[in-house]
Amino acid sequence: MKKLSIPKYRLDYIEKVLKDYIDRYQIKDWPVDCVALLGKMARLKSPPTKVRVESGMHKDTDACTIYHKKARLYEVIFNKDRFSYPYKRSKDRRTNFTAGHEIGHIALGHLELDSKLKTRQEVLIEELEADEFAARLLMPKDLVFTCSYSSFSDTAAYMKVSQSALKRRLANLDRQDLVLRRRERACPVCGNKTFSMFASFCPICGRDTRLGLNGIRVRFYPDLIRLDRYKRALACPLCGMDLRDNKGERCSLCGTLIFNFCISYLRDGSCSFANPGNARFCEMCGRPSYYYEKGYIGPWQEASRNRISN
Ligand SMILES: [Zn+2]
Ligand SMILES: [Zn+2]
Ligand SMILES: [Zn+2]
Ligand SMILES: [Zn+2]
Repeated sequence: MKKLSIPKYRLDYIEKVLKDYIDRYQIKDWPVDCVALLGKMARLKSPPTKVRVESGMHKDTDACTIYHKKARLYEVIFNKDRFSYPYKRSKDRRTNFTAGHEIGHIALGHLELDSKLKTRQEVLIEELEADEFAARLLMPKDLVFTCSYSSFSDTAAYMKVSQSALKRRLANLDRQDLVLRRRERACPVCGNKTFSMFASFCPICGRDTRLGLNGIRVRFYPDLIRLDRYKRALACPLCGMDLRDNKGERCSLCGTLIFNFCISYLRDGSCSFANPGNARFCEMCGRPSYYYEKGYIGPWQEASRNRISN
């Protein structure tokens, strides 16, 4: 028998439904907890959903969802022997995928038609579709592509999926190379991966780099103030004047420093390091940078709120 696969037009449909789902439940950042999401659906009654855990289900069944036509109610039932929440070990995180799979059945409209009216092949394809929905919900491409994979098991834990689910996702995306490539250093707090040669502190969040750069999620922080190779601002961040021919270390028009100095340069002079154009903190001593202190660069937490798209 030919290996079953999801037809292309159905993949497009899954993509669209997932996008609507993410908007509707206001999922803004990852990782995603699908058991909590089911709880949210039940609370909001949109659609009317009931969730329970039952013992005595078939030993190979993780969960099932029933649609009660009259009440227009979805009932998600987890197998007690296979349900683990909250997730503690890699094995438990299988429950997260199971919950995502059941959400997939609901969102994709698989349940309204009685499965007795479907062919065996149709039912099997729906199972693949629910898996695909769960995989994309829990491991969207942007997330998968922006992890450092410094540790595979930690990366799976971060995404709240089992290691086998992550392996499968990477295989489906044909991106197993992500795990094999040179492991990137990334700040575990902010995800920044760009550091000056001798940086002792993360220029984005100020964390001491000696505590380790084993971050999982890599994030990009653009240079908000563009600098030349001598670390001078190209334009004044306050008055906007072109500084390329400016003499001295202050803007000749408004007096703003043209370097993103360590703030202590102005205070006690103990550190005079000129920092990059996205630095909120001094890479040498961890104190705030001049442009951050002046408010020309906003807090990193705001800059990092880049949305994930599928
Ligand atoms: Zn299923
Ligand atoms: Zn950082
Ligand atoms: Zn100026
Ligand atoms: Zn400093």
